[in-house]
Amino acid sequence: MNQEVQSTAPPAEGLTELRRSLAGAVITPTNSGYDQARRFFNALVDRRPAAIVRCFGAGDVATAFDFARAQGVEVAVRGGGHNPAGHCVIDGGLVIDLSLMRRVDVDGDARIARSEGGATWLDFDSATQAVGLVTPGGVVGSTGVAGLTFGGGIGHLTAQHGLTCDNLVAAEVVTPDGSVVRAGADGDGELLWGLRGGGGNFGVATRLEFRLHPLERVIGGRLEYAGKGVSEALRRFRDVVAGAPRDFSCGAQLAVDESLEPTLTIAPCYTGPDSDPEELRVLRSAPGLVDDGVGDLAFLGQQHLFNPPYGEDRNYWKSQFVRELPDELIDELLERMVALGRSPGQVLFESLHGAPKDADPNNGAVGFRNAAFNISAMAVWQDPALDQPYIAWARDTVAAMAPWSVSGGYVNYMQADEPIERVRAAFGDETFKRLQALKTRYDPNNVLRRNQNIPPAPG
Ligand SMILES: Cc1cc2nc3c(=O)[nH]c(=O)nc-3n(C[C@H](O)[C@H](O)[C@H](O)COP(=O)(O)OP(=O)(O)OC[C@H]3O[C@@H](n4cnc5c(N)ncnc54)[C@H](O)[C@@H]3O)c2cc1C
Repeated sequence: MNQEVQSTAPPAEGLTELRRSLAGAVITPTNSGYDQARRFFNALVDRRPAAIVRCFGAGDVATAFDFARAQGVEVAVRGGGHNPAGHCVIDGGLVIDLSLMRRVDVDGDARIARSEGGATWLDFDSATQAVGLVTPGGVVGSTGVAGLTFGGGIGHLTAQHGLTCDNLVAAEVVTPDGSVVRAGADGDGELLWGLRGGGGNFGVATRLEFRLHPLERVIGGRLEYAGKGVSEALRRFRDVVAGAPRDFSCGAQLAVDESLEPTLTIAPCYTGPDSDPEELRVLRSAPGLVDDGVGDLAFLGQQHLFNPPYGEDRNYWKSQFVRELPDELIDELLERMVALGRSPGQVLFESLHGAPKDADPNNGAVGFRNAAFNISAMAVWQDPALDQPYIAWARDTVAAMAPWSVSGGYVNYMQADEPIERVRAAFGDETFKRLQALKTRYDPNNVLRRNQNIPPAPG
């Protein structure tokens, strides 16, 4: 299991000294704004750090690491504050918070974006779209660029341009001993390999460099289905993505409405030359279509299709990569969605067709390229009295996928209670060992353990 050890708070005089030595700020429980600063996406996790260090550059990150080591306090790293496990907050410890470091510079001629370690996708897309360029990122603007990239990254342009981490070409990383290391072809190539999927295990990235692609408009939006047609519409979605070209990404969400009837949202994102692509015609003709919101859209509009509330709902997510999505599994998931008997909550289908399959598997640590879909049971609720049934629903739903499973779950959606075996399975034994060797080199004491942890190789 990931660790839930209570950290010892640093003494007040130490914090005064820390404040003096930083360009950024330190927020402690007595400061106004503390509750806002410790809040993150998932209201299921409520923790009280001893100090939140709002860093302003690589120097501040190194200072925060030095301070934590000297005081013997545990650290957590915060980017966009979206990881459902709550790894970005820690009881009694020190949070290295990157939310002041959100600048994104774009070199349009070289088609490269350089983003600071705390940038969100809204920051990133706004900067790159200003010159008509993109990299494939996440579907919710407030998610952190670095956190998402380091776990893989699946979104509206995955079929076209691959996983987000496939487009990461370099990074500047502050390691727990305070050194600044460059990952990439002109630095440590092995570190770049590890950052492409291996999570925030090796250091704090203060700068990330991405390859960009030209794109301004898409055919996108949402197709909404309801009632009895949902079962057939989900089958259509599966068949369409199985044969779709590289310029057609598509995801789907199964849910229930207030009368507990099943609903399905399909979100296509087409970037090819056809004004009425065949794949879209097939989806539009599926039974149960109640709202057709698909059309010509600015890419930034596509990036606003899903905007869940931040810090209000309790979330428990569990995902499973599957090799196929047979009728039997569709029926099972539909039944379980209805059996949840409550809204909200959903089953998310992310297709991995197209470009992720083209990438050289040796370029990164990602272990799920060969899967057909990532399927996630996402329990979302507000009443703490319902924790048990919602969490049980997510666990049982994922357990039901076991016969079709490949390569464990998606690290980006894991809760903190996932056993290390499932983290290992997400990479495969060989890749996990290689990641452990990298971890031993950059973080031998496992300072960065508040994550989907890769422990150092046993001595
Ligand atoms: C609403 C929502 C939508 C999402 N949508 C998508 C999606 O479309 N596609 C997808 O693939 N995933 C998606 N995710 C999952 C998301 O990518 C992961 O949870 C990711 O870890 C979030 O990163 P963050 O920086 O926002 O989170 P945080 O909680 O701030 O950080 C999570 C962890 O990432 C690491 N980290 C973050 N920044 C850095 C850094 N600069 N250097 C080193 N380590 C760092 C740290 O280990 C940290 O604990 C979504 C999550 C949510 C809640």
